[in-house]
Amino acid sequence: MALLPLTEALQQMLQQLPLPKVTETLALNACANRILAEDIFSPINVPSFDNSAMDGYAVRVSDLAQGNQLTQIGKSFAGNPFNGELKQGECVRIMTGAMIPQGCDAVVMQEETETSGDNQIIFCKTPKLGQNIRRVGEDVKQGELVLAKGSLLNVTTLPLLASLGIAQVPVFPRLKVAILSTGDELTSVGEPLTEGKIYDTNRFAVRLMLEKLNCEIIDYGILPDDPQIFEAKFIQAQQEADILITSGGVSVGEADFTKDVLEKLGKIAFWKIAMKPGKPFAFGKLGQENTKQTIFFGLPGNPVSALVTFYQLAQPALAHLSGMNEPSIAKLTQNLTACSAVPLKKAVGRQDFQRGFYYANERGELEVKPIGTQGSHIFSAFYESNCFIVLEAERGAVQAGEKVTIQPFNSLLK
Ligand code: AMP
Ligand code: MG
Repeated sequence: MALLPLTEALQQMLQQLPLPKVTETLALNACANRILAEDIFSPINVPSFDNSAMDGYAVRVSDLAQGNQLTQIGKSFAGNPFNGELKQGECVRIMTGAMIPQGCDAVVMQEETETSGDNQIIFCKTPKLGQNIRRVGEDVKQGELVLAKGSLLNVTTLPLLASLGIAQVPVFPRLKVAILSTGDELTSVGEPLTEGKIYDTNRFAVRLMLEKLNCEIIDYGILPDDPQIFEAKFIQAQQEADILITSGGVSVGEADFTKDVLEKLGKIAFWKIAMKPGKPFAFGKLGQENTKQTIFFGLPGNPVSALVTFYQLAQPALAHLSGMNEPSIAKLTQNLTACSAVPLKKAVGRQDFQRGFYYANERGELEVKPIGTQGSHIFSAFYESNCFIVLEAERGAVQAGEKVTIQPFNSLLK
């Protein structure tokens, strides 16, 4: 069977995924890491009044065309405006954020003035019309689209909603994700390791990444390689969870056995993806068309492969399922170009996701070097890397100094 390019696997997967149907309305401080379920339009102008960008004096420019001295007749503070009206030859002391008094058309910064007793202010420069005034609606206009449906609510978007006085917003529910690891050889941390056994790494990695994606997690633990136990757990997941993520049991040899169980319960594709690490990957739906369906992701067993396929395939799929919009999904994995500091090993045929470290060299240019041995069972070097070096399927070995694509890790791997 020919290997499936990663972009094609992604496209096929995204086409089959439903969008969330239910929404709930929550107070802003309960919305961190949720996805917005409706477009938000601004109910007000921000700022809602003309105000000063500087500490200084609010003036009428035409007064200073004739002379360089004005009489200070009052003060305007942020939150405590000056309520009078300016007559010819007058100015008002003003602070940053304070309302511009009626009749004023510029603010002169304090540093460009001198005081000379009796409330007389001398202006060293002639101001320009409108200088240092922040205009109504300059930041956000009333009625303007502020955040599109599908935006991630985080530290850059939630304060924006707060600045508009929006106290609650409709959001999509958190995804309920069941996780399990498969393999007779697996042992949970905290238990002694007997001969031929290994510790379960993948459930740890998957759980941590799901937590960052704000999913609700149902942990089914480790499953032995037993079809009856598999079947029971998969049926349970179909009832309890929106998504089931497993690891192991999808590679050649084992796939037949998982396949038999899954084919009884739903429609699952076992892919061989042209990527390294991470070739085997299963995707589909548990449950029949007209019943509740649970999305299934079967990650490969090797820990690096499990992590990389989760990041490259499950991450965008989960983002889509959670209601995130296309531009926000695209932002999750942005590419840059860097020069490889050393030669890179690469065989033609599969797209490589090598673990690398990128940095700016002494000339300020981006450079990258691989970290550790690139085997899919070598997990220990991951923490020293800060990006994937993404090498095209058709590309062969890379010489030192050649340009390569890098994908800096997002918060999922930090
Ligand atoms: P499999 O895909 O089940 O054939 O597993 C491939 C390799 O990954 C084998 O060496 C497994 O022992 C190993 N492996 C599978 N699951 C895990 C896990 N949860 N943690 C660490 N290694 C695993
Ligand atoms: Mg296995």
